[in-house]
Parts: sequence; C-alpha cells; structure tokens
Amino acid sequence: MPKVPTIVVCIDGCEPEYLEAAVSAGAVPWFSWLKEKGTWLRALSAMPSFTNPNNLSIVTGSPPSVHGIAGNYFLDLETGQEVMMNDTRWLRAPTILEGLERTGCRIAVITAKDKLRGLLGHGLRNSICFSAECAGEADLAPWGLGPITDMVGMETPKVYSAELSTFVLAAGLEILRHAGPDIMYLSTTDYVQHKFAPGTNEANSFFATMDSCLSALDRLGAVIGITADHGMKPKVDSNGNPNAVYLQEALDELLGKGVSTVTLPITDPYVVHHGSLGSFANVYLSDGKSLHPAMRKLILMPQVMAVLTRAEAANRFELPEDRIGDLVVVANESAVLGKRREDHDLSLLDAPLRSHGGLSEQEVPLLVNRQLENIAPARRLRNFDVFDLVLNHIGPRPL
Ligand SMILES: [Zn+2]
Repeated sequence: MPKVPTIVVCIDGCEPEYLEAAVSAGAVPWFSWLKEKGTWLRALSAMPSFTNPNNLSIVTGSPPSVHGIAGNYFLDLETGQEVMMNDTRWLRAPTILEGLERTGCRIAVITAKDKLRGLLGHGLRNSICFSAECAGEADLAPWGLGPITDMVGMETPKVYSAELSTFVLAAGLEILRHAGPDIMYLSTTDYVQHKFAPGTNEANSFFATMDSCLSALDRLGAVIGITADHGMKPKVDSNGNPNAVYLQEALDELLGKGVSTVTLPITDPYVVHHGSLGSFANVYLSDGKSLHPAMRKLILMPQVMAVLTRAEAANRFELPEDRIGDLVVVANESAVLGKRREDHDLSLLDAPLRSHGGLSEQEVPLLVNRQLENIAPARRLRNFDVFDLVLNHIGPRPL
C-alpha cells in the first residue's frame, strides 16, 4: 500500500536520448537533479515496442503473454477479422490499479489518447479515468471536482499536439493538489517524438514543460516512477524517404495472392504519426508448406533483422501464441515494415519518418525520485516493473 501519493508516468516514445540531450542542454533542471541523485536506469520494454502492449504491461506488471494485448491491432483468428485491440474483452489479466482500488486506494488514471482509456480503466469503479483527447467529457464529479479544463486552465488539446501530453501532467498536478489520490497513472502520447529528434529545440522544450510539472509533483511529496512504452528511431534512407519494405508485395510475388496475410500491429486511427509503418509485422499463412519459403525470402531482405516462427516469437518475446502470426518479422534499427505501397498514405507524414516496434526501440528510461532498496542484484528490470519499484522498493528521497 502506498504511504504517500505514488505516481507512475509513461512518457510515450521516450527514447532515452531525449532525456540525455535535454539534460546536456540544461533544459530540464528536475531531470538533471534526478540523474545526479535519484534512480536513473534503463530497462527493456515489452515486445512489440508499441503503445498498447506496453501500457498494459505497465499496469498489469506482466508481459503480453499474460495480459493478451499483443499490438494495437491484430487478426482475430476466430473471426478472420482484423480488429483494434483496444476493447477490454481482449484483456486477460487484472490491472494493478483495480487491485489497489479494491484495497481502498483512490486511483486517478489520465491518458493522452482516448484509445487507451477503456483498457487502462478496466475494472475500476470509484476511480477517475479520462483522456486529454476527450477532456471535455471527463467526469470528475465523483470526487467533487471539475471540469478538468477549468482546473488546468487549458482547452481540450488537439489530438496531434504536444499539449495533448502536457495536459496529462498538468491535470495530474491539479488532481494531486485538490483530490489527494493514493495512486496516479499518467500516460502521454508520442506526437513530439515521432516528429522531432532528441536534442532539437522542439523536443527540449517539450521535455522542459514536462520537467516543470514533474518537479511540482515532486515538491508535493509524491513518489514518482517514470518509464516509457517504447523508444523511437529515425526510419529513413539516405534521401530522407521512409526506409520501408512492403512484405505483402514480396510474399504475393513469391507465393501468389491470397496465401499470406500481413498485419501491422502499429496500425491505429492516428496514422499521421507514422503512416502505419513500424518495425514489427505478423504474417499469417493459409498453408504450412509456405512457411519455409516465406521465411527464406523475408530473412534475406536487408531491412529485416529477424524472422521467427509463432512458437519462437511467443517464447522469445513473451507473446500470446494465439494473437500473433505464423511468422513474426522484426525490422532493423533504420527500417520499417509495410503491407503494400498503396496501403500506406505517406502524404500525411509531415516530417522524416521516425517510428518504433522493433528490438531497437526496446530500451527505455526507468527513473524514480527515490533511492531503491532490496532489489535482487541479478534482477533484470523491465519497464513493467515500475509499479513494483514505486510500491515495494522505495528508499529515502535523495537530497
Ligand atoms: Zn507509444
């Protein structure tokens, strides 16, 4: 049970270099203090390194093999339909949040995009759970608060904006000030990281705004754990164009049409970020004899880092076998995987492509504004250990 207000922040798409560059630039005094005096580690995210699987890993403390959310999007083998995985019927594990609520904690969950609200709030009854995207609809009346836009002094932010994330932290600060939650989970969005590289003015000023909110939360005495759902890497060729390989085209050429189905678990309604191009793909095959020819073709592609069978991928990446392809394909650090050229409207991209999904975006920050205690020396920390750290391993606050 938390002894003081305890906050976990998931900074969406926080490649560790963003914080290192902002600290070097002197843009983020609180993070600089944290780096010097607090817990400043790196950890691996869950695979695939996408938003939904990792947010659910963080709030359940478990990999996707346990909680079942293996992507933003997947092929439901029972119906043959490709569906968004943001419905709670896909969730196979209870969340730490609902467990804490049952023991009497007051919980507030704030997410940037509305697509995560249902999953993160699953099982919560008396808690506050809303998205910045739909801040106008946030119901804080059960806690005698609201409207949140008035409390924060901001209009509902645009979905493609840096403010969508800063609203999350500013709202968390107001709720901590006025409602005394025991636990908060704050989850931002990676709009800035998809557009701007670490160390750019835009990235540094985004992190500077977050820094001042986090510093204010810290001054109110909260224990704060910070991690990310995934990193973010440039995915362009030497001309600055998306470095994409189109798997469905290649497999249709090899096997004929209709034998293979490529699905991209990065797919979501927010395509301006990434044109549905990420570094992880599932390949479903209608017959077993295509497996080895498909594997051979895919692994020879220069943009491909790894091709795994379903069993290998489930084992290595801790994924649910029934929610991944016969083959799982991971792109290398500078590449992304697509279906067919015509399936990706790249005209919407307004900056050189930066994306994620692969092993190269698995490393993320794992930070706590306290010293940690009683961590077994051999333990390999993951981003989804953050609730365990802030609840069970908290030492003194560094001076
Ligand atoms: Zn994300």
